[in-house]
Order: sequence, then structure tokens, then C-alpha cells
Amino acid sequence: VSSPPPKPAAPTSSGDRTLTRMLGLKIGRIVVDPGHGGHDTGTIGKGGLREKDLVLDVALELRTLLEEKLGAEVILTRDSDVFVSLEERTALANQREADLFISIHANSSSNRSISGVETYFLSFARTAAEREVAARENATSESNIRDLQDLVTKIARADKSAESRELAAIIQRQLYTGSRRLFPAPRNRGVRSAPFIVLIGANMPSVLAEVAFISNPKDEKLLKKEDNRQRLARALFSGIEGYMKTLGSDVAQSRATSDQREK
Ligand SMILES: [Zn+2]
Repeated sequence: VSSPPPKPAAPTSSGDRTLTRMLGLKIGRIVVDPGHGGHDTGTIGKGGLREKDLVLDVALELRTLLEEKLGAEVILTRDSDVFVSLEERTALANQREADLFISIHANSSSNRSISGVETYFLSFARTAAEREVAARENATSESNIRDLQDLVTKIARADKSAESRELAAIIQRQLYTGSRRLFPAPRNRGVRSAPFIVLIGANMPSVLAEVAFISNPKDEKLLKKEDNRQRLARALFSGIEGYMKTLGSDVAQSRATSDQREK
């Protein structure tokens, strides 16, 4: 079987040739992180839908797609309804030397008419809305006040990661396209930044996607259906696939990379 000639990585959408792209680095191993679990339910809709259940379903489907269509090696931070701390999730991705980290969450707002998707990369929050999401998603943090300086240093370092921004931009685009087919009136709420504990210290491009608003009653009803959850997984898959393409990381190459590492 002859494989296609290798392609150089494209610049990022802002025109950067990052070190990752100059060195021709590829994606072989992906950590998929369904948020919350166990006693940490995440946000709960008025109709009883729990964030932890929704995001686990989406993550399981995403794993199947990544393995079957791209031959990627996928590691889940949890594959059942168990509690895993935010710090352990990132530590796992670093220990297993993942090339990509995606954390899947669902959003909530006191304004029940809000609908839409947002994708975050790690940086300091700039708006009240970003601060609110970070506070909610970081509720189970095990860090202490004495850790603040260390956390700030790590966030500042990650802020220079053009690859996480690029990954967030491509995932956001696909997530919005997918959610337009799914929900009555979703808004493209854009790529955002916030200091998420689960992304701090990750050694690879990493993002957190808020795939829907559980607080919107119409959307919540739709999110209870299995096929709609699969549609969200497909949208995330398209985002990851799109990002891998910009790296010139095709199926055969990503397989070869994984195989080499096993030796
Ligand atoms: Zn969450």
C-alpha cells in the first residue's frame, strides 16, 4: 500500500508557523475529558438533565469516531459515572503523553433563553461571563490559596500557546455548524479564554468546549435524545479532524506515530 506524500503543516489562521508546525509534529494520542462525574453532577436542567451524563455520552461517541475514522489512540479521563478531580485529569494527559486534550462541558445561565456554543483556551478571563463559567467549572478544585502564584505562572505560560487557540477556533466553528442543525436558535458565542484548573499545566494543545446550554428548556429537551448527543460528538470530531488536517496529520501518519511510541 503506497501512502500519500507527506504535506507540510499549514500556518495557523493568524498566519503563525508555530514550533509545532515548523517541526512537523503530528497527533497520535488524544485525551477526551468528560467533565464532572460521581457526586459532582455539573449543572442540572429544569427537566432533570445532568451535565455529567450528557458529556459522558458525547465523550464516548467522540472516542468511537476518533478511533474508527482517524485511527487515533484515545484515552478517556472517565468512562463511567465516577468522580475524578480536575488536577488528576490534566496529570493523566501529561503522564500518558497525549498530543491533544479536549474537555467537554455543558453551560448554564440564569437567562433561560440563552442558547449556543463556546470554546475556551486557557488564559485569564476578560469578561464577567468568562469569569462566571470558570468559577462554576472550577468548583471542585483541590488547589489552595498558597498555590495562586504557581497557577498564575502556568496560565501566563499557556497564554503563549497559539496551538490551543487554533484548536479552539476550529472546534468552535464545527460546533456552531453542528448546533445550528440541532437547536432552534443557537448563537455562536465564540472562542473565549478563562483560567480553568483542568487545563492548567497541560503539556499539549488543550481546550474546553461548552457544547450547549442545559438551562435552555427547548435545548434541554433536545439534548435528552441520544441521536442529538451523537450529533454533538460528530461536530467535535469534525473540529479535531480539521485541526489535525492543518498539521498535515493524516490517518496513516497518526497511526504510524502511535505505533512507534509503543516500541
Ligand atoms: Zn462543566
